[in-house]
Amino acid sequence: MTSEQVRDWLRRFADVVSEKRMELVRLDTAIGDGDHGTNMDRGMKKAVEKLDSTEGGDIGADLKAVGMALVSSVGGAAGPLYGTVFLQMGSTTAGKSELDLDGWTAAVEAGVKGLQARGKAEPGDKTMVDAWLPALAALREGGDLGEALTRSADAAEEGMKATTPMEARKGRASYLGPRSIGHQDPGATSTYLLLRAAAETLG
Ligand code: ADP
Ligand code: MG
Repeated sequence: MTSEQVRDWLRRFADVVSEKRMELVRLDTAIGDGDHGTNMDRGMKKAVEKLDSTEGGDIGADLKAVGMALVSSVGGAAGPLYGTVFLQMGSTTAGKSELDLDGWTAAVEAGVKGLQARGKAEPGDKTMVDAWLPALAALREGGDLGEALTRSADAAEEGMKATTPMEARKGRASYLGPRSIGHQDPGATSTYLLLRAAAETLG
């Protein structure tokens, strides 16, 4: 994948988040405070502004710019958590203008590691981690880049759906205890959208 494709991915995600803003708000209204869609939309709009003001060519620099935009413009849990993912992905890919599947997998691995170091969520806690971890496992199976990206988006989708029957143990939704059961996690949903956009643009 080229640095131009990585920029296309980030722009596509910004568009998708904007389109699905109300769906993410609705999911977060059920088990949180209803701001996930607006948070992500605001953050990704800032991220795209940053991308538009730089030249591109360095995948790591672009990913770091997005991470900084999210950390600095998004309140709530998800902004800093996604910010960490992008910042870690950016460190791993610093100075690179192209990535193969191994490079992409290493970047996602570093991102998820940073996410868990910061948020302390484990699988089954009903968070975005439940979409990220299966997606990473699918990437590690290797093979053709396009196929691996599609497999990882499919795995994120399964992980997202699997959050519905879970009881939340991290984040705002955990305050609801058993009442969080029966609702799909908003952060796992935005992670699925991010990884589906990756499969559509990076393969
Ligand atoms: P807030 O919960 O502060 O309102 P958002 O609504 O933007 O922030 O994001 C909520 C999402 O953040 C949840 O759906 C969940 O996926 C994710 N999340 C919350 N806490 C954690 C955590 N500790 N680790 C990983 N993800 C988390
Ligand atoms: Mg919220």
